[in-house]
Amino acid sequence: MPEKRMRPAVGAAMAIALSGCGPAATPPVVVPPSSRSAPSAAERAAPPSTTDATLVMLGTGTPNPDPDHSGPALAIIARGKVYLVDAGAGVVRRAAAAQKAGVKELTMPALDRVFLTHLHSDHTIGLPDLMLTPWVLDRTEPLTVYGPPGTNAMVENLEKAYAADIDDRLHGLEPINRTGWQAKAVEIAPGVVYRGDGMTITAFAVQHANWAHAYGYTFQTTQRRIVVSGDTVPVEEVVRQCNGCDVLVHEVYSTAGFARRTKDWQAYHAGAHTSTAQLAQLALRARPKLLVLYHQLYWGSSDADLLREIQAAGYHGKVVSARDLDVF
Ligand SMILES: [Zn+2]
Ligand SMILES: [Zn+2]
Repeated sequence: MPEKRMRPAVGAAMAIALSGCGPAATPPVVVPPSSRSAPSAAERAAPPSTTDATLVMLGTGTPNPDPDHSGPALAIIARGKVYLVDAGAGVVRRAAAAQKAGVKELTMPALDRVFLTHLHSDHTIGLPDLMLTPWVLDRTEPLTVYGPPGTNAMVENLEKAYAADIDDRLHGLEPINRTGWQAKAVEIAPGVVYRGDGMTITAFAVQHANWAHAYGYTFQTTQRRIVVSGDTVPVEEVVRQCNGCDVLVHEVYSTAGFARRTKDWQAYHAGAHTSTAQLAQLALRARPKLLVLYHQLYWGSSDADLLREIQAAGYHGKVVSARDLDVF
């Protein structure tokens, strides 16, 4: 008997796309991840071919080691340049998978800048991977790591942690370049943090548990504005930054799942993250053309449950619960 293999459920988001729905609206269209006949939500949500910025979900996960959701990381690609947000577990391998799936810009040498939202381990545990693996695969540019205060110490300490590896590769027989191992930390404050190649990137402060510095980012090109929430409770600044943006990528947890958590965890999550009900209210005012859920905390709920909860809370715009490798 040939061995049966399960195909990983990546690249197949679930979506509800509604327009002008009143209380008596028809039931939402829910596309199961396993559906291969209908176009995927990502395909339906895909930007027009003329757009000048593409969003690739590299990892949609959380600290939970769910094999279908790598650690949080995404790529925005404009004019051939790659702008990564966060470096969760698996970031480099997911970039390789996306390239294999047709996102040709996601080469190893192109992974040379990352914007960290905050320094929680689930968002940074792939940082040494991002610092070193593309170097071994011919990245000659140092990795530039933009992030909140504390980024410099993290990068310096990671270089120390891998000093023996770096030394061995530089001084052994590997025909390796002399420059790509270096990482350059740039500690940033809210405001415009990058401008060039037709891209303007703005960091903005969000509110996440006890972190003194946690950021979201807005990516603005001529044709598109993409806003990424990072980890946060609902904050007014996301509404201001989006204000009718093309794509709002926002973290979320299931309201029903939350009710199944213990009281002490509920207290933490309420001060750290955003529920589906809260996100629905926020999205009504932020008015994104497309709302993309990521960093989903399910706690027993499904993608379809998240979408139903958002609809039940009064948001009827286009919304997708992202899976790894979705492209928008
Ligand atoms: Zn997180
Ligand atoms: Zn966090």
